[in-house]
Amino acid sequence: MEKIKMATPLVEMDGDEMTRILWQTIKDELLLPFVELKTEYYDLGLACREQTGDQVTVDAAMATKKYGVAVKCATITPNAARVEEYGLSQMWKSPNGTIRALLDGTVFRAPILVKGIEPYIRNWEKPITLARHAYGDVYKATEMKIPGKGRCELVYTAEDGSETRSLVHAFEGPGIVQGMHNVNASIEDFARCCFNFGLDTRQDVWFASKDTISKQYDHTFKDIFQEIFDAEYKDRFEEAGITYFYTLIDDAVARVVKSKGGYIWACKNYDGDVMSDMVATAFGSLAMMTSVLVSPDGKYEYEAAHGTVQRHYYQHLEGKKTSTNPVATIFAWTGALRKRGQLDGLADLAEFAGKLEQATIETIEAGKMTKDLAAITSLPEVTVCDSEEFIGAIRKRLSALL
Ligand code: NAP
Ligand code: MG
Repeated sequence: MEKIKMATPLVEMDGDEMTRILWQTIKDELLLPFVELKTEYYDLGLACREQTGDQVTVDAAMATKKYGVAVKCATITPNAARVEEYGLSQMWKSPNGTIRALLDGTVFRAPILVKGIEPYIRNWEKPITLARHAYGDVYKATEMKIPGKGRCELVYTAEDGSETRSLVHAFEGPGIVQGMHNVNASIEDFARCCFNFGLDTRQDVWFASKDTISKQYDHTFKDIFQEIFDAEYKDRFEEAGITYFYTLIDDAVARVVKSKGGYIWACKNYDGDVMSDMVATAFGSLAMMTSVLVSPDGKYEYEAAHGTVQRHYYQHLEGKKTSTNPVATIFAWTGALRKRGQLDGLADLAEFAGKLEQATIETIEAGKMTKDLAAITSLPEVTVCDSEEFIGAIRKRLSALL
């Protein structure tokens, strides 16, 4: 078979530990035999971030801005233990945080559904994509402990020096207070990212907050979403046969649980943090969650939602075979290759991505899977594979499909 050609390079961001090992195996077994892979390679492994003073992360983000599509391996976000383990000169920032700040995007997470791994919620038939606003609110809040009796106010000082004040509380005794903010520009970008992703994937968009209680703060989110939808997206949504609707967060939670799935659920920062863990767990496994960062100007960075699977890596270093699930990392590659194919008008590249996904899903549905899935599957006959065996089985199926 002749290898599939690419026009524009993908931005390839390598990573750490077990996912770095899987990354190479996926390329060797599932990509390079079939595709003349064109990538611009950035090594975001901790050693290279240290060597370059983390410049490599910034360069990778800038390359994503230039080319439009990136695929990223999971990376270590250093803590004190990692500083010691890797002899770091600094506790480098989270690469995902750095990339998100430069691309200014929204993260969309969706589960990969396979027969035999049933969601805990029986009526969920299609994936629920969770879109989390990644700026502000409680994550950028200022907090204070109030020691005793006294007044606490919000004060806004305009550029001309004039002040607007609002009483938070007249304390009679000790308490706590929190001041949080968001900016309209970020909320507008968030809304556009969600609507664009809805159009892109032909799914309805739901957005929910607590505007009945938060009449200024959450209501502003609701108003901005509605204004942008009416002005820029209404007609295109009608054409695509999809809808946008707003509801209260508590109503949304009830509807989500009763739904069949198949839509995008846009959440404020905190709601997204909490609800994405709920949705991922209820669908069965973190190792089966995809994640894509979409910038307001339409740049895409694909990755797996899980981390570097450190515990398995130490087993690997001891020379043991591990049964680490590579599915979300495979889907990061297929997501990126499909998007590259669509942008460059390369139908065969997009089709290859679909076939690789199909081969992966069919391998699991035929009973071959990694240990994490074997523990939760409803399939009666299962072969537990190590990562290499599993990827080998996918390659066989893929070759047959092609
Ligand atoms: P993790 O790598 O997601 O792994 C946590 C546990 O979940 C694993 O020990 C494993 O459970 C299970 N697991 C996750 N992915 C799996 C897979 N593909 N196959 C099988 N089992 C899987 O999270 P972590 O251990 O908290 O973090 C490790 C490192 O990853 C940290 O340095 C963190 O900074 C980094 N991290 C990076 C990203 C990112 O780059 N996007 C995201 C999160 C964390 P068992 O051990 O029970 O088998
Ligand atoms: Mg969380």
